[in-house]
Amino acid sequence: MVNKNFLKLPDAYLFTEIARKVNAYKEENPKANIISLGIGDVTQPLAPVVIEALHKATDEMGQNATFRGYGPERGYDFLREAIVEHDFRARGIGIEADEVFVSDGAKSDTGNFQELLAGDVRVAVTDPVYPVYVDSNVMAGREIVYLPCTAENGFAPALPTEHVDVIYLCYPNNPTGTTLTRDQLKSWVDYALEHEALIFYDAAYEAFIQSEDVPHSIYEIEGAKQCAVEFHSYSKTAGFTGIRCGYTIVPKILKVALNQLWNRRQCTKFNGTSYLSQRAAEATYTPEGKRQVRATISYYMENARIMREELKEMGFKVYGGKDAPYLWVGTPNRMSSWEFFDWMLRSAHVVCTPGVGFGPSGEGFVRLTAFGTHELTEKALHRIENRL
Ligand code: PLP
Repeated sequence: MVNKNFLKLPDAYLFTEIARKVNAYKEENPKANIISLGIGDVTQPLAPVVIEALHKATDEMGQNATFRGYGPERGYDFLREAIVEHDFRARGIGIEADEVFVSDGAKSDTGNFQELLAGDVRVAVTDPVYPVYVDSNVMAGREIVYLPCTAENGFAPALPTEHVDVIYLCYPNNPTGTTLTRDQLKSWVDYALEHEALIFYDAAYEAFIQSEDVPHSIYEIEGAKQCAVEFHSYSKTAGFTGIRCGYTIVPKILKVALNQLWNRRQCTKFNGTSYLSQRAAEATYTPEGKRQVRATISYYMENARIMREELKEMGFKVYGGKDAPYLWVGTPNRMSSWEFFDWMLRSAHVVCTPGVGFGPSGEGFVRLTAFGTHELTEKALHRIENRL
């Protein structure tokens, strides 16, 4: 009766297992004051311009003249036009408003987009990987090819040696916090064009890029509009994890006609993102909105800088954290990811995320996030240093 592919998935989603372990420890040690450097959620409040836009949109909903019911499935024009202008044209990329599909976030879109694929296509993911790409394809019964990202290859996967039809890339990367250079990204676009493959490019963390030469969008690379779909999210960029808004770019000149198919899929299964969320997202593109959003990102990236420097001084091997809010930290003394997770929890009362939970190549690493407050981040670092 049930879709047996679901039974192939591991029981507990990684973060459920972490929460179970942390709660068990808290029950045994009720006085332990635990700090999480494992959270993938933001901690800073929404920007004032966003709050203002939410209030205004709420008031509009209370008046006959301005009330809105169902919105367009693709998203309101005001937001799609702002996206085209600020996220693409400002970078010299020509994307049209009818190539933008507004959504309730990148998790839904990265999870759902595979519905457009045939059941037997071969899907490649980088390893370690954001679990949604793998699980959603396993649910559909597809085989997954893992492309290892290790310290040895600088966390830049080698091109596949066997044929694959679809490649999920996420840069800046969750969980490693590393990026691809323009040349590395170009080699993927060239590969996709040559092998008639598609790239599903997750740019959820592009707003955290600090370095001049790191691409913000795969469409900065020539030819990408023929082979790549790109996912964006306001979750980490502007603290929308609770508000919910994101968007996906599906170019009309893709070699496979996915723009029409995605529109058809969304019109059937999705009734649009709330008007309030879309007005809130629009507000992030005003000059004041941009300043405020950048200030919060700088706050998190200052955490990342401090974490990188202090953990390196303590002797850890630390990757990422320069252009992403994630740090990928090698475990000491050949400990496994879960052994080091347990040590951190029990000795330092700090929660991290075991790297192996993101894929086999994550073994021997943990992921730390920069989304905490300055105070708690500093405190967690001192605790780790004292317990080493
Ligand atoms: N893509 C990646 C790589 C993420 O890490 C996340 C969230 O953690 C998402 C997508 C989902 O973002 P959203 O909140 O927009 O669904």
